[in-house]
Amino acid sequence: MKNIGLIGWRGLVGSVLIQRMLENNDFTHYSQLNIFFHCFSTSQVGKQSPSIANGCNTLLDAYSIEQLQQMDIIICCQGSDYTKQVYSKLCDSGWNGYWVDSSSHLRMHQDATLILDPVNYQAITQAISDNRKLFIGANCTVSLMLMAINGLLKQDLVEWINPATYQAVSGAGAKAMRNLLQQMGGLYNHVNSDLQNVASSILDIDKKINHWSATSNDPANLFASNVIPFIDSMTANGQTREEYKAEVEANKILNSNQHIAIDGLCARVGAMRCHSQALTIKLKKNLSLATIEELLADSHEWIDIIANDAVATKKQLTPLATSGTLRVKIGRIRKLTLGNDYLSLFTVADQLLWGAAEPLRRLLNILVKAT
Ligand code: NAP
Repeated sequence: MKNIGLIGWRGLVGSVLIQRMLENNDFTHYSQLNIFFHCFSTSQVGKQSPSIANGCNTLLDAYSIEQLQQMDIIICCQGSDYTKQVYSKLCDSGWNGYWVDSSSHLRMHQDATLILDPVNYQAITQAISDNRKLFIGANCTVSLMLMAINGLLKQDLVEWINPATYQAVSGAGAKAMRNLLQQMGGLYNHVNSDLQNVASSILDIDKKINHWSATSNDPANLFASNVIPFIDSMTANGQTREEYKAEVEANKILNSNQHIAIDGLCARVGAMRCHSQALTIKLKKNLSLATIEELLADSHEWIDIIANDAVATKKQLTPLATSGTLRVKIGRIRKLTLGNDYLSLFTVADQLLWGAAEPLRRLLNILVKAT
């Protein structure tokens, strides 16, 4: 018998995780294996647990070390502040279970394995057989970038990568999604009467929109009709922490002797879900586009190569066309005029799936099979 604790199950990542587990009948499968799920909360202790919890009917206290100690595996999607507060206390209490986390706090911990099994399955199984107990989901844009260009990385064809990201508001949590929708509605309501009047000036409408946006919203969270080229906090060298994570986390996952330089610019855009990235890749050698597409497509079963034409790109290579699916789309593949070894491509995938919940769900499967 095993006890698994779920923390953060009602947040965005947690609810997508539960949804994926239900879609795959994971809970039924686990209960046949005598595995019990217990839901914890930081804010609703003692209330009714969701029906997926077959271990305990009421929500347990996510701050109770005593209750957490009863778990063999803890899946935590609560966020870094919580992990900072609880993880070391739990370990200090002598707990020796598996901690699986979606937040960034423990990613660079020396004992942590970053999990993205289509890319580093062997590192994960090796860590389990080495009796390592800390498994952390990587930053969402990093996971999506590696899922997209795994075919080139596996063949050691990449010298450096310069990403420009276009990250959806859901990357900032449930509240940001609500903000975006309220702002869209606010904008529409503000100019609705002008829109009904065909004689109204579009420049006047534009002016009203700008005025409303600037006066009625916090600029840090103004997502509608906007792009914010700053995610997370500033580091000493002018990179944001989101930009900093690309190189360190990607190289930690790849765990190769060949360090790959990765640096670029991360921006928040007014999409609801799915992160998009334009990647400039310096290849180690000149390969034909046909070979590149073949390597990318053959890397795993979730890749979709989108033809570099207007119809396919606008129809398929967008957040809206990708949201809620496991597809990792790659399009606009071409050589830059800078030289034959400079590759440009655009990739889109759902950051709540491959960038967050899916690696956790799959890790749990691997862990249960292996232990
Ligand atoms: P979130 O939606 O803000 O949820 C986090 C917690 O907020 C919930 O578990 C819940 O805890 C609490 N909460 C308070 N009010 C809530 C409400 N009205 N609805 C739902 N939950 C509410 O955070 P998240 O986006 O899932 O991110 C969790 C962690 O994963 C973070 O460290 C984040 O950086 C990381 N991550 C996120 C993404 C992404 O795309 N969002 C991707 C990769 C990694 P209680 O039930 O205990 O109150």
